[in-house]
Amino acid sequence: MLTQKQILAWLEEVKDPEIPVLSLVDLGIINTVEVNDNQVKIEITPTFVGCPALEVMRQDIKDTLLKHGARSVEVEVNYKQPWTSDRLSERGREALRQFGLAPPPKGKVLVEDLEVLENVPCPRCGSTRTGLKNPFGPTLCRSIHYCMDCREAFEQFKPV
Ligand SMILES: [Zn+2]
Repeated sequence: MLTQKQILAWLEEVKDPEIPVLSLVDLGIINTVEVNDNQVKIEITPTFVGCPALEVMRQDIKDTLLKHGARSVEVEVNYKQPWTSDRLSERGREALRQFGLAPPPKGKVLVEDLEVLENVPCPRCGSTRTGLKNPFGPTLCRSIHYCMDCREAFEQFKPV
């Protein structure tokens, strides 16, 4: 018999398709896990509405759990309670930093408030002498910054 705890441990193997060091669990998008007679039902809240990686994540969740012996896997998407960057775990923030992405600041912040996008600590050297270069990075979830000390650009996982 599969347990909820075991399912969650396996979900650690499923990574964000855009950030391969970050698991979906650490990303904080897994809402609930229900197991009944080896049939699994999972509810997720994606980081962004219309995130293009959603279908990939859904398939990865299914493949991983079926591989481990779940009889069936249902993945439901729920937007009722929007994802916020505060749902990122400490390990998730560390994974972002290792990947070279500045983690989003904690607490309630608005993306529209461009000030939180200025002086983002550089993931390479920690300097805050940084400036926002482009609020729209290569994906919806990232913005591009420039570090005056490294003289190089870096990306931040945008706060929401
Ligand atoms: Zn730097």
